[in-house]
Amino acid sequence: MNILVLNCGSSSLKFQVINVTQETIDQNAEDLLAKGVIERIGSQSLITLKPTGRKTQKKALPFRNHAQAIDFVLKWLVSEDSDVTAISKLSDIQSVGHRVVHGGEKFSKSVLINDEVIEGIEDCIDLAPLHNPANLDGIAAIEQILGKGVPQAAVFDTAFHSEMPQDSYLYPIPYQFYRRYKIRRYGFHGTSHRYISYRYRFLTNTPKSETNIITLHLGNGCSACAIREGKSADTSMGMTPLEGLTMGTRTGDIDPAILEYLHLKEGITYSHLFNMLNKQSGLLGISGLTNDMRELLEEEEENQDRRASLAIDIFCRRVRKYIGAYLANMNGADAIIFSGGIGENSATIRSRICQNLSWFGVAIDEERNQSMSGGNEGIISTSDSKVKLVVIPTNEELLIARDTYRCVEGII
Ligand code: AMP
Repeated sequence: MNILVLNCGSSSLKFQVINVTQETIDQNAEDLLAKGVIERIGSQSLITLKPTGRKTQKKALPFRNHAQAIDFVLKWLVSEDSDVTAISKLSDIQSVGHRVVHGGEKFSKSVLINDEVIEGIEDCIDLAPLHNPANLDGIAAIEQILGKGVPQAAVFDTAFHSEMPQDSYLYPIPYQFYRRYKIRRYGFHGTSHRYISYRYRFLTNTPKSETNIITLHLGNGCSACAIREGKSADTSMGMTPLEGLTMGTRTGDIDPAILEYLHLKEGITYSHLFNMLNKQSGLLGISGLTNDMRELLEEEEENQDRRASLAIDIFCRRVRKYIGAYLANMNGADAIIFSGGIGENSATIRSRICQNLSWFGVAIDEERNQSMSGGNEGIISTSDSKVKLVVIPTNEELLIARDTYRCVEGII
């Protein structure tokens, strides 16, 4: 089944076309036909297209909205330009899977999209005002272009965390606000944490019920997840993706009283404050230079930039703090897994995070650590480390495609 996977961000569109069959699932294989990204939707958009095994194509075109961008992608896929042999007409795309950011308390697993599901996603707009509308635009555009007959599935970023216990997901504010507005921790990156956990089980031949691990998705957005018996028991992002680890431009945890203090001192409105917490904080805010970890590491090494160094130290300290908290709450874990652009590629950051974890019996093997990057997966701890350290590149799109296949086949 040729499945188009769409990830509609607030101003971007990422897509992949993956051929999924029961055999590819059983063999844990991936048959990727093409992928691409369109950035800056709403102005002059930048388009990157990559048919598997062929050269990357780059273009710039003005797309006003997601519908135009999706229309372009579909036309490109069936054109000679893309040269994707399995797709020569629109009907060669048999189903579409959407990454949907917020499923609230309504959705605990992936579902086939119908009117009721669309209403459910609309009901969660309050919780993800930038993302859920973009996801809905994507769903509507596909229905308009491919017709109602092509099944679409929604795969929620929040779903994996839906089994968290109440003492993990409730905030200690008056309980009535949970009742009234469902204010609670939902968690995000669920598809990534679920994929990493599944992949760990596959690699180590561990049954789901015995999977007790900490997964770290460290990219531009970052989150940690405590996985007990194969289920999310706690995660660092909260009601929104702003909570938890220090990220590229997001603060992660801060004292909420800072908002009121800054509001009084500087007369900044709440919407400006939230913009600052989401877009100008984290690595960028501390360094004053960039949200890009690779650039910060270069600044630190080549120019001994003090604030770049400080931003990296704050980042690593916060990750370590969450590891410690989860190890305590879970009564230990069998593995700590690194993923995301930073977690997959930076041996330096992995090494710095693992400093001072020896008390827990965590021992990194520097030789293995240094050799692990660029999409490799494997163990980077010493043979006698009490807790395994593992690098596993995430693959949210593959899981979305497989879930879509299962939804369409009625086996989810
Ligand atoms: P993602 O959001 O998962 O694409 O991750 C993006 C982040 O990964 C950016 O901060 C990049 O600088 C970082 N990254 C990618 N490759 C490396 C690398 N080799 N070393 C350090 N950071 C990296």
